[in-house]
Amino acid sequence: MQFIAFESGIEVNGQTVYSIVDALGSFKKLAHEILLPSGIGNMTKNGYEIKMDEWYSQTSWLRAFEMIAKEIGEATLKRIGTKIPENAKFPPWVKDIDSAIKSIDIAYHMNHRKNGTIMFDPDTGKMLEGIGHYGYERIENENMIISKCKNPYPDSFDLGIITAMAKRFELKANIYHDDSKECRKNGGESCTYIITW
Ligand SMILES: [Zn+2]
Repeated sequence: MQFIAFESGIEVNGQTVYSIVDALGSFKKLAHEILLPSGIGNMTKNGYEIKMDEWYSQTSWLRAFEMIAKEIGEATLKRIGTKIPENAKFPPWVKDIDSAIKSIDIAYHMNHRKNGTIMFDPDTGKMLEGIGHYGYERIENENMIISKCKNPYPDSFDLGIITAMAKRFELKANIYHDDSKECRKNGGESCTYIITW
């Protein structure tokens, strides 16, 4: 299912949340019209504010996505996804399409925390469970990666993240949703994306 957190007590950092503001571009007014009623950010005397080093409730962040899906549309969800690699923290070892797709799950956990603890520790390699995953499966002897995404974020948003990360290293990469598999838009638990180049 899209938009419903797997667990309570999960938060996302301000840098990641800022992707919505970034994606809406000149419609920045609209970003706060979505984020503020979702419970993210504050109105200050200088206008709407998200703090980059602040943590925000994942439930509120998912509520913002649901509003965007209803009121703006799927294309915007994808666009927000493409802005994630520019805004969120990513590990430093990303150097090709394989490490790029593999890094999404690590970055995902680095940008969320559970009961106050960041969900991936690069020093120990320890990952906390509770937000699902972004899959990475390399098909041998072919330029193909399968990514099964089992997390509460919307389908089109994940397509955007994967597309941006793949095209960073393989400009001609094709990324598509495997319609033969279950889909979160229809109440499924995951979506599967195929990346070829
Ligand atoms: Zn889907």
